[in-house]
Amino acid sequence: MNLKYLTDKALLQDTKHLAQEYRSITTSLIVHLREINTRRLFTELGYTSLFCYIVQELHFSEASASRRITAMKLLQEIPEIESKLESGELTLTNLGKAANTFKQEGITDTGFKKEILASIENTSSKTCEKTLEDVIGPASLSIQPTERMYSLHLEFCEATYNKFEQIRYLMAHKKRSREEIFNSIFDMAIEELTSKKFKTKSKQITSSSNPRYITANIKKAVYLRDKICQKCGSKNALEFDHIKPFALGGKSTEENLRMLCRNCNQRQRITSRL
Ligand SMILES: [Zn+2]
Repeated sequence: MNLKYLTDKALLQDTKHLAQEYRSITTSLIVHLREINTRRLFTELGYTSLFCYIVQELHFSEASASRRITAMKLLQEIPEIESKLESGELTLTNLGKAANTFKQEGITDTGFKKEILASIENTSSKTCEKTLEDVIGPASLSIQPTERMYSLHLEFCEATYNKFEQIRYLMAHKKRSREEIFNSIFDMAIEELTSKKFKTKSKQITSSSNPRYITANIKKAVYLRDKICQKCGSKNALEFDHIKPFALGGKSTEENLRMLCRNCNQRQRITSRL
C-alpha cells in the first residue's frame, strides 16, 4: 500500500473513515460474540468456553479476548454501551478498567455503573484510571480508621460542576481524590477570606528583565480568559503561545498570548517552518 500520492486532505479523511470503520467492526464483533455465547455455539466446535473459542479459533490474544468478553457482559447489562463503543466515546480498554473496578468494589447497581461509565467517556486510559480511583476513593484507604468521617451529599448545576472539573484539572499534578481536592479548595478559601477580612496586603509580583518571561498575573489572566486550547478546544496539556512569535518581536502581554494544547502548539511550529 503506497500512500505517497494521497493529498493531505484525502489522507486525513481516509484515516478518520478507517478509524470509524474499525470501531464499528469491533462493536459488531462483540455483538456477534454475545449471540454465539447465548447459543453456546463454541461447544459445537469443541471449545470449553467462549474465551477459548476467541483465542484459538479467532486468533485474538488472551488480553484482547478478556477485553471483548468484559465488554460483551457489560453490553448485555447496559445496552447503551453499544453506540458509545461505536462512536469511540468509550474504548474497550476503559470499559475493561471500569469493569475491574465494579468487580473489586462490589458495585452491582446498574444506575451507578452508568454514572461511572459516563464519567470516563472520551478520556485517555490514564485519566480514566484517575477518575475510577476518585470513585472508589484512595482517600478511604489513607484515612486512619479512628478518624471520624462525615458524608455530605452535594448536587451541582452544570456550571458549578464544570468549575470543579477545572479545579481538578489544575490540581491534577499532585491531587487525586475528591476529598483531597475539596480539602485544598477549602484551605485556599480560608486563606483568601482571612486575608480579605484582615486586609492583608498580597505580595507584589516582580517582573523579570527577561522579555520572554510571562508574569504570574498575565499567565493567570490568559488562562482564565481562554481555559481551553484556542484551536481545538482541548483542556489537556495547555501551554502559553505567543500569537505574534517572540522571535518576531511579539511581546509577553495578555493580548499577544493565548492557550494552546501541546499538540496544536507543536503542529503550529511544524507548519510555520514549512
Ligand atoms: Zn489544541
